[in-house]
Amino acid sequence: MTHVRVTSETSWLDYSVPIGEPIVQRYIVRHRLEKKDPAAPLSDPVRPIIYYIDPGVPEPVKSALFDGARWWNQAFESAGYRNAFIVKDLPPDADPMDARYNLVQWVHRSTRGWSYGSTVSDPRTGEIIKGHVSLGSLRVRQDYLIAQGLRSPFDGAATTDPESEKMALARLRQLSAHEIGHTLGLAHNFAASVNDRASVMDYPHPYITLKDDGTLDFSRAYDDKIGAWDRRAILYGYQDFPDGAREDVELNKILTENIRLGLLHISDDGARSANTAHPDAHLWDNGSGTIAELLRLMKVREHALARFGENSIPRGRVMADLERVLVPLYLAHRYQTQAVSKLIGGVRYTYATRGDGQPANEPVAEAEQQHAFEVLLATLNPDFLDLPENVIRLIPTQPIGYDRDRELFKSNTGGFFDPLAAAGSSAGLALDMLMVPERLNRLSEQESGGISRPFPCL
Ligand SMILES: [Zn+2]
Repeated sequence: MTHVRVTSETSWLDYSVPIGEPIVQRYIVRHRLEKKDPAAPLSDPVRPIIYYIDPGVPEPVKSALFDGARWWNQAFESAGYRNAFIVKDLPPDADPMDARYNLVQWVHRSTRGWSYGSTVSDPRTGEIIKGHVSLGSLRVRQDYLIAQGLRSPFDGAATTDPESEKMALARLRQLSAHEIGHTLGLAHNFAASVNDRASVMDYPHPYITLKDDGTLDFSRAYDDKIGAWDRRAILYGYQDFPDGAREDVELNKILTENIRLGLLHISDDGARSANTAHPDAHLWDNGSGTIAELLRLMKVREHALARFGENSIPRGRVMADLERVLVPLYLAHRYQTQAVSKLIGGVRYTYATRGDGQPANEPVAEAEQQHAFEVLLATLNPDFLDLPENVIRLIPTQPIGYDRDRELFKSNTGGFFDPLAAAGSSAGLALDMLMVPERLNRLSEQESGGISRPFPCL
């Protein structure tokens, strides 16, 4: 079934099908959407899809959620719809659980956690009855913390940093689009970042660059629009073909064009676990040059660590908070390191169907694997793991009422910030990935299959 390549699906077993046909029946899920004029290149819908935003969301977050939600109009316009996707405030008398309202709900939890985009759909048709997004309210604070550590902005008396808030809100726009994307029927696409941010259905890492004047540029931290892949997925799921068109033929043309455009799609099954093989499908990575991006990110981290100090937190905050800001900065290379690790024993593949012309499985070239290994070793270098003495001496134990929690490094020094534990966490990023048994098994298989001695040192 080819349609699983672009959107989420619902499936059931049909025991009445002929022997030669698959028993598993799969439908994509999608909202009902029809053009008033299916022959027109751009038409109003018979009825638009309407999403509602939780009135309990505070500003400026609420406006960011509206903005990101409305990006989907760009995709529906590409599919020939005008005014098809509308975003409104939830009416005061509406119940969030009411199936008649597609909702983005603002949810409080005790810690930061995943957001969810879920649907109630009819298994007989795949029609989405209700889209329901749950957005954790603490997520925006994590992004603020990431920016705060990179910037160390509190030279003066200010207690908040507008630039960090700007980056956090840019991320929320993207997150709003991402979670709503799930409720429109789209699956994750963790290979979109290698296609120049082709999908909001990837997990984005902030793209921060070092300027010639020695400052960091946050202007391209997150994308500000719907992606090329998202447009293709909505086209596939929502196109209303004119009378006389053969839907199966037209849908296959869309898939063929996706392949021609070079758009990759690898979802959770091929990216989320540490043992996965695809070297282009990662969570929270950036760019198409995986190794070069890690080297670049290591420089950004080095630059930001050199600025780290008292000015990383506002005046009046407990000094122990420095460790909280340090954690995401010290581990800034975390996800890109995992991405580079996946080159080792990596296999490029597609969700191919017979006859679609997509290439067969292809192990990552030996030279690329060797290069990845050398760069991973650089993340284990003591110079890379080291922190300046003046930073270590700045961070006291947590004061009374400020417990150590899982957002801080482990401490083997009686509650003091433990630089060796921090270094252990960092070094473990590469080592844990390299020692995954399935990765080592693939290395062994690749060697026996003709790739000679990819890793004499392992
Ligand atoms: Zn998601």
